[in-house]
Amino acid sequence: MSAAGITALVKDLASRDLVAYRPYRGVRLTESGRERALEILRRHRLLELFLVEVLGMDWSEVHQEAEALEHVISERVAHRLDVTLGHPQVDPHGDPIPPPNGDMPRDNPKSLLSCDEGCDLTVARIDDQSGEFLRLVDEIGLRPGSRVRVEERNSAAETVQIQVATLGEVSLGMQAASKILVEA
Ligand SMILES: [Zn+2]
Repeated sequence: MSAAGITALVKDLASRDLVAYRPYRGVRLTESGRERALEILRRHRLLELFLVEVLGMDWSEVHQEAEALEHVISERVAHRLDVTLGHPQVDPHGDPIPPPNGDMPRDNPKSLLSCDEGCDLTVARIDDQSGEFLRLVDEIGLRPGSRVRVEERNSAAETVQIQVATLGEVSLGMQAASKILVEA
């Protein structure tokens, strides 16, 4: 987006009280802007789960569909999604679903790049929405809920050696490893 385009966007958001702009201090979300952003995030993640669980789509293809739908569904539909899905806590990628009008739980998850070596861990979340990366994750068997252990990191080769149930020992690049979030 061009500088003029960004200025126009910020002005539009400011006129709707979604962002506040102060010269030299930049732009920040107002309280109502923050609530709106969280509501959109909530719809996005409920829709992703609906597309996977109810419509049987693959988790690697739902991000873009949800991106389009999140802006057009009503509050009532969002509420029905939540009820139908049983008030889920996370979407298919393990991303937390914000509670209605509530705060996002703050978590500080470790990744396969930052976790301890030699511990048995569970994949909690995949921090990349691209279909290509998600298909790779599938191939390796690293979906949320999968068990995994970091055997060794090699900073010279920039690889992380992991042990997964499906394939045994697998070597991942460090950037890929940083996008697989885990919990004990
Ligand atoms: Zn997601």
